[in-house]
Amino acid sequence: MIYLYYTDQFMGYNFGPEHPMQPARLMLTNRLIEEFGFLSGLDVERVIPYYASYDDLLAVHDSHYVDAVRSEEPSRSFGLDDYDNPAFPGIYDSSRLIAGASREAAERIVQEDCSAFNFAGGLHHAMPSRASGFCVFNDAALGIFALQKRFGRILYIDIDAHHGDGVQQIFYSDPRVLTVSIHETGKHLFPGTGFVEELGQGEGMGYSVNVPLPVNASDQAFRLAFEEVVPPLFDWFRPEVVVAQLGVDAHYADRMTGLKMTLSGYQYLVKRIRELADQRAAGRVLALGGGGYNLEVVPYAWAMAFQLLRGREMPLDLPAWWVDFIQSHVHRTPVCLPDPLEISPAEEARVLGELEGTIHDLKSLLSEIHGIF
Ligand SMILES: [Zn+2]
Repeated sequence: MIYLYYTDQFMGYNFGPEHPMQPARLMLTNRLIEEFGFLSGLDVERVIPYYASYDDLLAVHDSHYVDAVRSEEPSRSFGLDDYDNPAFPGIYDSSRLIAGASREAAERIVQEDCSAFNFAGGLHHAMPSRASGFCVFNDAALGIFALQKRFGRILYIDIDAHHGDGVQQIFYSDPRVLTVSIHETGKHLFPGTGFVEELGQGEGMGYSVNVPLPVNASDQAFRLAFEEVVPPLFDWFRPEVVVAQLGVDAHYADRMTGLKMTLSGYQYLVKRIRELADQRAAGRVLALGGGGYNLEVVPYAWAMAFQLLRGREMPLDLPAWWVDFIQSHVHRTPVCLPDPLEISPAEEARVLGELEGTIHDLKSLLSEIHGIF
């Protein structure tokens, strides 16, 4: 069984017309899932979430910060006064609705051994006491805390183009949560963290894992990073449940980042996460959205992710209204499978060579701590 979390009220999470994160991506994802007929299966139920309460939020966030968001006033010290995260009317309710969806999805997994997808979630940059990188409340962390009521070993995998710094920080000392983030190197991209040396602290030492990718990393680089690192971590950690942040801003058409993933590459990663969760974590997956800023890519990618989480493939044809809508509103052709990208052999070799060095360094560090690799 898989639960899909959506309500049009998610659209209230809106930083304004000039902001790169446009809420239309959520409504369009939902529409595309509906139009493809994915909700008609007996294995699927759409759920309208409830709001995370003030007390729910305190599992992750400081009360002073929650108060600041609730006041809806700009505040520099809480990260609510800049271009990335300006305070807006409704910021508190829309943020705690998204957080509530991930929390409720986690509770369903605790009770029913199912999977769930909240594509409005995955707001992985939010910190305990400040907003960051378009993220107000850290719904992923709220979900993980809810899962900890039953599960002692939770694997968080983050394939967003940006480092999952908020989730890493919140569980940095916790050996019951293994965080793994594959992302564009912080040398070039926000938030400037996520290097192999960030491994956790105290009892959590060795339970934060980062694979920074060179600029222009393609499907092949993602596949190498994933296969070299993630399956051995599943075997070693034996997670009881998987939390997957499925941001799709690594796609080559996404202008916010410098990576060159295609939809085929994204499909491969989501399929592998599903497979590994089935083999090693009793099939329990809490899937979240995340970054992804192109309307011609994101709704398709998340509709596909939903279908892959159900163990199904995408239909071959796009709905005609979808093609018309994207062409008339975005003035670009919607991207769908297959979407191959030409990369020069010399550039591919440079990227893979650099990445192999990174993976070697990471494995050396992890083998010193845990004796794996
Ligand atoms: Zn991102």
